Amino acid sequence: MNATTSEERDLRQNLAAAYRLIALDGMDDGIDTHISARLPGERFLLNAYGLRFAEVRADNLVTVDADGKVLDDPTGLGINPAGFTIHSALHAARPDVNCVMHCHTVAGVAISCLEEGLLPLNQWALQFHDRLAYHDFEGIALELDERERLAEDLGDHAAMILRQHGLLTCGRSVGEAFLRMRNLERSCQTQLAAQATGQPLRLASPTMAEHVAQQFDAWATGPAGSDRAWQAELRRLSGADDSL
Ligand SMILES: [Zn+2]
Repeated sequence: MNATTSEERDLRQNLAAAYRLIALDGMDDGIDTHISARLPGERFLLNAYGLRFAEVRADNLVTVDADGKVLDDPTGLGINPAGFTIHSALHAARPDVNCVMHCHTVAGVAISCLEEGLLPLNQWALQFHDRLAYHDFEGIALELDERERLAEDLGDHAAMILRQHGLLTCGRSVGEAFLRMRNLERSCQTQLAAQATGQPLRLASPTMAEHVAQQFDAWATGPAGSDRAWQAELRRLSGADDSL
């Protein structure tokens, strides 16, 4: 491992854990998509292009600069340039964001294909009320000029639906981005399940949606919010609950 500080070691461990949890939860897509985390000095860690998410470890992450140039790659596999187009745009535009997570899930892509997008149908979805961006599909994200439009569309939100493509979340920490992604994914799954019944849907009022979104905001930024939840997720990988 090329970790030089305990801060970098922690970040590597959290990031590798996020990859494996995404795989455990079935939100990965072969060797595609990325989760990126910011290191000091405008360097970024992400997955080597060729590993499944379940294979990502703290010591096989690739370090790149803001333009996606590889600075350190213990695997020799390099990175997927299309993936980092998305991430580099958002890291550059949002210094408050330290982790960007992007997934192709069936439910997420299905919602991205609906004209109306995500509806205020359930508690998970309400946290994204007025806090969810949309980005139109421009083909596989190889063009660097798409970066500006990605950043513009995200604005100051922490979650975005990429039309015909997938989901994206941001966080001040890896854990925050992960928990937000799972809630977004569950929002999408639940909407599809409700719509599949063919019954009339009961939407939350804008007032209720805003109330719940503010409750989520307070929870996520509070001391017992996302960090406690993230630590609980990490224990899924350590086997700490095997004896229960
Ligand atoms: Zn993608």
